[in-house]
Amino acid sequence: MSSTRSYAAQSATSPLAPWTIKRRSPKPHDVQIDILYCGVCHSDLHTVRNEWGNAVYPLVPGHEIVGRVTAVGDHVTKFKVGDTAGVGCLVDSCRECDNCKDGLEQYCDTGAVFTYGGAERDGSGITQGGYSKSIVAHEDFVLHISDKLPLEGVAPLLCAGITTYSPLRHWKVGKGQKVGVLGLGGLGHMGVKLAVSMGAEVTMLSHSPSKAADAKRLGAHKFILTSDAEQAKSVMGYFDFILDTVSVEHDYNFYLGMLRTNGVMVCVGAPPVPAQIPVFNLIFGRKSLAGSLIGGLPETQEMLDYCAEHNIVSDVEVIAIKDINEAYERMLKGDVRYRFVIDMATL
Ligand code: NAP
Ligand code: ZN
Ligand code: ZN
Repeated sequence: MSSTRSYAAQSATSPLAPWTIKRRSPKPHDVQIDILYCGVCHSDLHTVRNEWGNAVYPLVPGHEIVGRVTAVGDHVTKFKVGDTAGVGCLVDSCRECDNCKDGLEQYCDTGAVFTYGGAERDGSGITQGGYSKSIVAHEDFVLHISDKLPLEGVAPLLCAGITTYSPLRHWKVGKGQKVGVLGLGGLGHMGVKLAVSMGAEVTMLSHSPSKAADAKRLGAHKFILTSDAEQAKSVMGYFDFILDTVSVEHDYNFYLGMLRTNGVMVCVGAPPVPAQIPVFNLIFGRKSLAGSLIGGLPETQEMLDYCAEHNIVSDVEVIAIKDINEAYERMLKGDVRYRFVIDMATL
């Protein structure tokens, strides 16, 4: 066991503050990583404030982790000391169910172990995330990171990247398709970059007029201000695919109206409130409303390699960890271009 500095929430209403946690000594298949950068996901904020009702305290959030390998267990074959490595949203699963065998560990039949707030399968405790100096994980849940790209820009790929890449791949988004990305935040800006790189015609659907220029810079072909009735009308019945990344309650029916016949809207944004959807909004036009959770380990590695090959990283604002509570407030106001990433040297 070793002691590791971290930032934790002690309750749903307390700010994140310094705290010391224990990390296990590497077991035969474990990789120990010194964390260099950790991205700040809106899921961290939902969880810290217990908006989904499943938080366990004390809680060290953070699941967009990149760092350097400092030790490996005797049986580790995939990593060596000095390698650049990443950990995303998952640190364990059963490896035996059909989902695990298919590389869909996030949907493990017995429940995947999430990087923070998850119950360790051996009963040894609750997992703690990446707002900390180091982490230890089984090599099967550690990703190879190319040194070609700036590491602070790579960190958000471990959640925002894979969460948008996976549905784009699953629904075979590409050339000839009209894609709407709803919400220009951490996930949304990765969704735009990835969908553009896959050849789709991409429209940014945003409620923030100030983001129009950025959307174009990120590669979006069009920008629709969703609060402007005329602009919204111009894309009714228009999209083959909408990726919804919005973090707060919003009217799904309005956006279902923007799908053409056979169109698909995939929710990745996870507001804490249930959606109200009259089925006729799906029946007319044979539309599909779907969801998608992060991505499995093989696809996460595929996405990291894809981003290295296509020079895709997140647009980040690097912060010191002491500023994390202010960063949460700014994220709530949509004041982030487009992902906060903590420089762990400041811890
Ligand atoms: P974020 O950076 O805060 O972005 C959320 C975006 O939602 C904002 O940038 C904003 O875009 C839009 N939005 C905010 N308030 C709004 C309002 N009042 N009305 C309409 N739109 C509003 O958050 P994120 O880190 O990208 O995460 C987004 C959501 O995805 C969160 O709920 C998070 O928990 C969830 N998530 C899900 C998965 C998964 O596996 N499914 C993985 C990671 C995260 P505009 O200003 O452009 O409108
Ligand atoms: Zn996340
Ligand atoms: Zn499983």
